[in-house]
This record gives sequence, structure tokens and C-alpha cells, in this order.
Amino acid sequence: MLEFNPLSVSLPQALASALRRLAHLAHTSSWDQWAVQRLTPTQRRILDVVASRRESLTLSALARELGVTPATASDSVGALESKGLVQKRRSDVDGRALALMLTSEGQSSVTALAALPDPLQNAFGALTAAEQEIFYRSAIKMIRGLQETGALPVSRMCVRCRHFEPFRTPGSAYPHYCELASSPLADRHLRLECPEQEAGDEEEQNLLWEKFSSPPTAES
Ligand code: SF4
Repeated sequence: MLEFNPLSVSLPQALASALRRLAHLAHTSSWDQWAVQRLTPTQRRILDVVASRRESLTLSALARELGVTPATASDSVGALESKGLVQKRRSDVDGRALALMLTSEGQSSVTALAALPDPLQNAFGALTAAEQEIFYRSAIKMIRGLQETGALPVSRMCVRCRHFEPFRTPGSAYPHYCELASSPLADRHLRLECPEQEAGDEEEQNLLWEKFSSPPTAES
């Protein structure tokens, strides 16, 4: 007879196992797509980061954003340069530093990669809209938590931004607000990487997080 011990697996263990399966799908399918363009995952990420920046991005800033050493970032940028996808020029901010920008071929590559089918994105079709919203909110909490422990590099996300006001209109379909865009936001609109983000100081970020992570109740 099958021995079944319902206490042997904790919920975090079960969740981690499920997420690993999803991550495997994301990695293998993405790897096929990137391989067509002869890109490694780090090179792909560099193209995305450079494409998302309005201001010039130095090699050291790129390394910080990726959470890798400057030497690793430099190797990957060198490979992208030799493929004609990025180029270096003098930084607008610091004339002594070199900044990265996409070539027109690099821009076309980013556009083509963004248009490829994404099996992981399709997998979320199995969830209702409300379940997807909860999943995304939970992912934001996990990502911020990992950033706080240094396991992930800090990103320019809404929940760290001076322009973000969580729960301006609690209970509505668009409870949050972006002051810069003068726009209400639902959870799904919250950005993990925003070119316009202005990070608050530590105290502001902590207050913002407290407000975001404790939604007001009907009585409050
Ligand atoms: S400026 Fe960007 S990061 Fe800041 S609240 Fe608006 S959308 Fe979010």
C-alpha cells in the first residue's frame, strides 16, 4: 500500500517545487529562442536593460543592475559588440565613462525577441484574472524581499518610487496611483523596472512598503 504522509512537505517546499518547474519551462523555452539569435541569457538581459533606459548606462551601472561582476558584464557586452548589437560612446553624465547603446540591429533584435511566443505567459491562462492579480502581487512581495536580503539586485520598481501612492482609492479596481503619470493603477500595472522611477530614501521606501503590504480593511 502507498504510504502517504501529508505532513512531510511544507507549503513553502511545495511552492518552491512548483516554481522550479515553471522556471525550467521559462529557461528551456527562452533558451531555444535566444539560441536562434545566438544570445546567452545574460546577453539577452543586457539588451533588455539597455533598451529600457532613456539615459546613458555605464558598464559599472549595468553590472550593478544585473547583479554580476564588472568583468562578467564586460565579457557579455564585448560579445554583443562583436555581434553588432550594442556600441559604446561617451557618457552624457560622466564624460570620462563609456555608456552603452543599442545599434539599429540591436533594437531590431529586442523587438523580434519581444514578439516571440512565451509558453510561461500562456501558462497563466489557467488562472482566473483575480488569481493572476494575487500571483503578481505575491511575486512583487517575494522579489522585494529578495532584494532586501541582497539575493537580487534592487530594481526601479513602483513600490520603491516617490511617485507611487498605494491604495489612494481602496476597494476600487485601480486602487493605487502614479503621481508622475497622473494615472490610477491596478496591481497588474505595477512596474518592476520603470525608466521614470525616482527612488525614495530608505525611510520613504519603508513607509511605502508598509502601506502597500497592509491594504486598508473595510472598517479602516
Ligand atoms: S514613475 Fe514609474 S515607478 Fe514611479 S509610480 Fe509611476 S510607473 Fe511606478
